[in-house]
Amino acid sequence: MSNISGLHISGTTRNGKGNRRTLINPATGLAVAEVSEASIDDAHESVAAARGAFPMWSGKTAGERSRILLRLADLIELHGEELTHMEVSDSGKPFATFLEGEIPFAVDNLRFFAGAARSLDGTGAGILSAGYTSMLIRRPIGVIASIAPWNFPLIMAIWKMGPALAAGNTVVLKPAPTTPQTSLRMAELAMEAGMPAGVFNVITGGSEIGQALVTSKDVNMISLTGSAATGEHIMKEAAKGTKRVHLELGGKAPAIVFADADINAMAQALIMGSTYNTGQDCTAATRVYVERSRYADAVDALVATGAKVKWGDPMARDSDIGPLISTDHRDRVHGFVTRAVAAGAKIKLGGQVPDGPGAYYPPTVLVDMDQKSEIVQGEVFGPVLAVLPFDGESSAIEHANDSAFGLASSVWTTDVSRALRVSHQLEVGVTWINDHLPIASEAPHGGVKGSGFGKDMSQESLTEYSVTRHIMIKHAETIANDSFRPA
Ligand code: NAD
Repeated sequence: MSNISGLHISGTTRNGKGNRRTLINPATGLAVAEVSEASIDDAHESVAAARGAFPMWSGKTAGERSRILLRLADLIELHGEELTHMEVSDSGKPFATFLEGEIPFAVDNLRFFAGAARSLDGTGAGILSAGYTSMLIRRPIGVIASIAPWNFPLIMAIWKMGPALAAGNTVVLKPAPTTPQTSLRMAELAMEAGMPAGVFNVITGGSEIGQALVTSKDVNMISLTGSAATGEHIMKEAAKGTKRVHLELGGKAPAIVFADADINAMAQALIMGSTYNTGQDCTAATRVYVERSRYADAVDALVATGAKVKWGDPMARDSDIGPLISTDHRDRVHGFVTRAVAAGAKIKLGGQVPDGPGAYYPPTVLVDMDQKSEIVQGEVFGPVLAVLPFDGESSAIEHANDSAFGLASSVWTTDVSRALRVSHQLEVGVTWINDHLPIASEAPHGGVKGSGFGKDMSQESLTEYSVTRHIMIKHAETIANDSFRPA
């Protein structure tokens, strides 16, 4: 079993002095490597390194920072296969999907952040008070503690370090304990790209190491993508030092399907939307509300399409989806399904734990649930779709909004006015019309309500990681004419 050095601090990769964690390949259940994780002292050292590098990095021009990030994007592209092997081993994602989908997307994200860095400054100048000239400029915040989840390890790392570094901050990134490999490798590639030591640090470990970052006096902002419970905890901790927080938390995306929708196109997109990444996606389609007159057709189409999804070995070219992240997580997902059935739901597809090794779980479609039931309200984070009928537009909107979360949604209709009218009333960060899931580097991603606040991607993400400063210059004649001159 190989050893993975679990720290990248001040430009050097080395072993941490904390736990030794065994990484398990979720597709096989076999141990593949051991990580020497950070100790609390290592966490403090990483923050000190980021603090030390801040004056230098924030003093660089946006163009200089941008060039380094662009070189890093090129290196990620060049090392795509190597990174894919790491991510597949840690997370069980299908090899082809990651190499051909997530790597190019991550590279595009980083290139966007690099470009956006160069249009962050110069938000305004003017005479706002007689005799003065004011300038509004954006400046970085300082040291950012970035805490990432396991579902999209490389993309989440880039969504966090990309805009933060582009805006002139320095970063300590803590990936999820089970999926550290691509983040650690990216830190090495950043050095190769010319990133100065200390600017981008990666430390590995679990919640106690995250906690050490969150409570460090030298951290100015905490950026978390993770569960709602962790988000609430971090917000409380951050209050103690009045630290900024950026929280991308869970989701429970509804899809509203009107009778005039193209049912086959809907089934294709919502099965893709509920099973991509084996449903471990905060924007995944999870609750489908179908206008009653087309409900039976919609259920049939979803079941027929879901049955065609090929789940299995991530290395097989024809696998659409791989396993869940772990057998523990599979137990959690199956627990939701079992309790739903006990409460009266019927399984139309899947819903059984397959025999054999690996944390596999098949696409699952459930019907006959109550709006208030756990399966309709809770975040399952697996390939499980709950399909419910509705009568009338206002009832569909009410049910869609009846959730603690507010991240993503979709509306299915050929009536443009209705699509817009309904979209405007949904309490979410994104609404797709006649699709579910696509995202773009230029478009902000983030939620409302229990899904957190703060935007990833787009120019708005750089705004998140910077503050507006007001510089006010008193004109010489204003000084000369000052009437208040105490002796
Ligand atoms: P999690 O909250 O358990 O862990 C997320 C990260 O927080 C991990 O790195 C973990 O080690 C760290 N952490 C946990 N407790 C901590 C503490 N007390 N202090 C500091 N750090 C701590 O979540 P997860 O299970 O890894 O990820 C899945 C969750 O992430 C889901 O709820 C999912 O919806 C959410 N998610 C949200 C988005 C989004 O954009 N909104 C994207 C991806 C995932």
